[in-house]
Amino acid sequence: MSREVTEVDRVQPEQSGRLSSVTASSADALRRMRAQKRKDTAPELAIRRQLHRMGFRYRVDHPLPGLRRRADIVFTACEIAVFVDGCFWHCCPQHGTLPKNNHDWWEKKLRENVERDRDTDRRLRAVGWTVVRVWEHEDPLEAAKAIARIYQQKTSAPSA
Ligand SMILES: [Zn+2]
Repeated sequence: MSREVTEVDRVQPEQSGRLSSVTASSADALRRMRAQKRKDTAPELAIRRQLHRMGFRYRVDHPLPGLRRRADIVFTACEIAVFVDGCFWHCCPQHGTLPKNNHDWWEKKLRENVERDRDTDRRLRAVGWTVVRVWEHEDPLEAAKAIARIYQQKTSAPSA
């Protein structure tokens, strides 16, 4: 078992509509915001494909209970939310970077993303959900296997 799937948290990155608050004179910032895909990213698709092949069925980009947020892959019946976090937007310890242009804005922006992730995790756990965070750089098959283990643990556990 590696570090790939951790029961930590993080949430969907901010969407480009918010750009107004940027003094987004920075072409770099604009480019990044526009290039940001919110769903169906390649890592998400790869993990979903593996899970599907393993026989799992799940909801995609599904709303979460009591939250105006969504998770990338959701097992509604057993209350497991999977987030596939982009290395840039969620500050991956291995690949996270801070752009030089508009440094302060980016620093705040990315910190807020991470804080929102933690908040999402807390809120979900508070209502009995299991949160699974996967980095986009992780191997999709290994990630799917780890998700499967968590699923099996949760569904085989005697209810309290
Ligand atoms: Zn990474």
